[in-house]
Amino acid sequence: MHVVDGRNGSPSVDRTGGTFSGRVWGDAVLPAAAGVTINSVVFEPGARTNWHRHERGQVLCVSSGAGLVCSRGGSPVPVRPGDVVFFEPGEEHWHGAGAGTLLVHLAISLGTTEWLEPVSDRSAGAAA
Ligand code: MN
Repeated sequence: MHVVDGRNGSPSVDRTGGTFSGRVWGDAVLPAAAGVTINSVVFEPGARTNWHRHERGQVLCVSSGAGLVCSRGGSPVPVRPGDVVFFEPGEEHWHGAGAGTLLVHLAISLGTTEWLEPVSDRSAGAAA
């Protein structure tokens, strides 16, 4: 058994940089077993992923805070605790926190992830 301790809001690994904009923390819950990767991810206010796609799709379970999810060609959609999001295989998208809120979600990623370019502030703010 492995408990990812969320009680102190203290995820263990700083994932800032690379495929994210802003400060992002994450814990590997289940690292790449049988093509399934599960991460608990905390986005600080304003932080978000780059555009990316998952080979066989992805499920996000929002557990705390508030944030945005967005598919290529669409507008950002607000998400909050209790929401469950599914991205189709190959669907280009991003996810992240709101401007003034944290976002905590469990990400269940299926297959490989292909990372693309950063999301522009204009694109990220399209819902505001
Ligand atoms: Mn994703």
